[in-house]
Amino acid sequence: MAKDNNSAYDILFTPIQLGSKTLKNRFYQVPHCIGAGTNHPGFQMAHRGVKAEGEWGAINTEQCSIHPECDDTLRITARIWDEGDVRNLRAMVDQVHKYDALAGCELFYAGPHGPGLETRTIARGPSQYNSDFATVPGCPGFTYNHAADKDEIQRLQQHYVDAALRARDAGFDIVDLYGAHAYGPMQWLNPYYNRRTDEYGGSVENRSRFWIETLEKIRNAVGDDLAIVTRCAIDTLKGPSEIEIGEDGLKFIELASPYLDLWNVTIGDITEWGEDAGPSRFYQIGHQNDWIRHIKEATDKPVVGVGRYYDPEKMLEVVNSGIIDIIGAARPSIADPFIPKKIKEGRIDDIRTCIGCNMCIGRWEMGGVPFICTQNATAGEEYRRGWHPEKFEPAKSDKDVLIVGAGPAGSECARVLLERGYTVHIVDDRDKVGGHVNDVATLPGLGEWGYHRDYREVQIDKLLKKNKGSQLALGQKRMTADDVLNYGATRVVIATGANWSPTGINHLTHGPIPGADASLPHVLTPEQVYEGKEVGKRVMIVNYDPYYTAPSIAEKYARAGHEVTIASAVGVGGFMDYTLEGPNMHRMLHDLGITVLSDTGCSRVEEGRVELFNVWGEGYKREYRGSGEKPRHQNETHEWHDCDTVILVTSRRSNDSLFRELKARKDEWADNEIEDIFVIGDAEAPRIIADATFDGHRLAREIEDESPQHQKPYKREQKVWGVPYNPGENPELEWRL
Ligand code: ADP
Ligand code: SF4
Repeated sequence: MAKDNNSAYDILFTPIQLGSKTLKNRFYQVPHCIGAGTNHPGFQMAHRGVKAEGEWGAINTEQCSIHPECDDTLRITARIWDEGDVRNLRAMVDQVHKYDALAGCELFYAGPHGPGLETRTIARGPSQYNSDFATVPGCPGFTYNHAADKDEIQRLQQHYVDAALRARDAGFDIVDLYGAHAYGPMQWLNPYYNRRTDEYGGSVENRSRFWIETLEKIRNAVGDDLAIVTRCAIDTLKGPSEIEIGEDGLKFIELASPYLDLWNVTIGDITEWGEDAGPSRFYQIGHQNDWIRHIKEATDKPVVGVGRYYDPEKMLEVVNSGIIDIIGAARPSIADPFIPKKIKEGRIDDIRTCIGCNMCIGRWEMGGVPFICTQNATAGEEYRRGWHPEKFEPAKSDKDVLIVGAGPAGSECARVLLERGYTVHIVDDRDKVGGHVNDVATLPGLGEWGYHRDYREVQIDKLLKKNKGSQLALGQKRMTADDVLNYGATRVVIATGANWSPTGINHLTHGPIPGADASLPHVLTPEQVYEGKEVGKRVMIVNYDPYYTAPSIAEKYARAGHEVTIASAVGVGGFMDYTLEGPNMHRMLHDLGITVLSDTGCSRVEEGRVELFNVWGEGYKREYRGSGEKPRHQNETHEWHDCDTVILVTSRRSNDSLFRELKARKDEWADNEIEDIFVIGDAEAPRIIADATFDGHRLAREIEDESPQHQKPYKREQKVWGVPYNPGENPELEWRL
């Protein structure tokens, strides 16, 4: 039973003073990007507002550009350049204030880490350098800055001051001078960037000058109207040539402390910001503590720190031990915007734990799109679809639902339908909820992805107790079309997932690889890897997939003592650059001695060997040679490579035969009192776990709306030329099914 207060966690609900502002508890949503910016004020307002409702004590914007010289265009960021931005951000501030939380604005100046693609401006910095960050994906070293002279230093500092004043106008309670992730003033502090020889360069005191002067100028301008915070990377993890906590890190904390009300600390830089937003594959809860624990040696100001804090016991530990005063969170607050409220009410097992997959970050890193969350299907959908993470529209009828398949799509669909009060029967041949997540979570480093299954398992179990007519039937024989037709349900949801191709079908040929046949002893699919099919000493992974499967399987067998080669037509784990898993994944492959053959396709599989070729080997010159002839020459790079086992990571195909047979027998539905049958998740089309989860969630919300198989229109936030348009208020301007 929920409790109003849970004394074990009292310390987390003890207010703390941030200058003139009182933070009502110890839960602080640190700035994080969501893809809303200031051009989607409804998205920004509703996403942050839900967290305030979930009782986060402070909610910050994402990085909020102070001036057009900071233009990170590809990646969507907020801006506070003018009255229009102020007005749009005020919507968020007002929503946050409704729930008695503080609203913070992160003052962002990228330097050359912002590519300036929209404004075509050049950023200022302490010296001239080109960004080590891939400002344009895949292109580090592309964007340069201009070394500021003294006039320009003053001008840049004034940009910060003006932005802080606009933040005050918007009603914010906090401004955060963003100096983590190698942004803004960190470029002045860090000798890697700052090569000046005047009073702004050289000694740590000189390199701190820009940062401290800016804090002072902001304070002089806003007085006590705002709490002043600075987000600082106290160690850039590059050793003695940069910022180390034991050296310049602590010295800077000591020097700057008098000028601010709260330290917001992180580690790492922008080029590898996965060292801060650590994916669970490499970093567990509290992974920054060995660095952060030193900060109290140099300041008596409160400290907020991060480290994927989702577990209340660990939160207590880190606050009670005095390492930090306030729990900072980005990802845990996305996966569950209601963590503080659930802790307060003692509903610990209702917390939807962040799995550390970094898909949220991945979307932002790709640029230009709203973010998503693997665990929380409502993240980013609060405004445009009107979805609330904890509230559901009651069932519109007593029509019951049969769901075949309890993977991410089926289990999320079941959870939401049960929340709505529908009678739901879930049938799966596995003996556990979670579908393929059960397998994926056995791969090295991916154990925490199992939280996705655990959350749904616990919630479905609880909801079934409330909803007596519903049932979860695991470990069943595979359902056939006859089983479904005879089941007696009014609506049926097919969520039967997808499988890896057993014949090597891939995106280059859209056909099988000759000789590849996973029914043979020496050829495996990833599913057969999970089932434990026997594998020889020399393993060849034929890879056409850009995500985690090939590197994870390679790691598994390399650790078990096999000689592993990945022959990859598409690079290895390219998508993992977006989830910030890329750099350490490559280090892992290197450390384990895994051979990577890049730009390499596979043209034939035989027992004991595979034929490989260079995917670029057919010549760069094109020539018309008449019908029946390719315009490029024969690819003559084919070579045989010996191996004992071949693992095909080529492409997935929907397991949709049950749906297709049921569709073909539509004329039998009415006799069996079936009104409709839907297909969701990977059974409709293979996709990432987040999107399968979203699909299950969406169908459950829309199951009695018009044409539930296809998504309902959502509110678009767009400018319409010459028409006064408030999103959601003018149905004429919204897209139709
Ligand atoms: P998704 O990501 O779309 O949810 P998964 O492959 O993870 O897909 O989950 C699908 C689940 O459906 C798996 O647990 C699988 O064993 C189960 N399943 C597939 N076909 C049937 C069937 N005909 N009868 C019962 N369960 C099935
Ligand atoms: Fe956590 Fe993954 Fe959701 Fe990001 S997408 S908040 S890492 S569960």
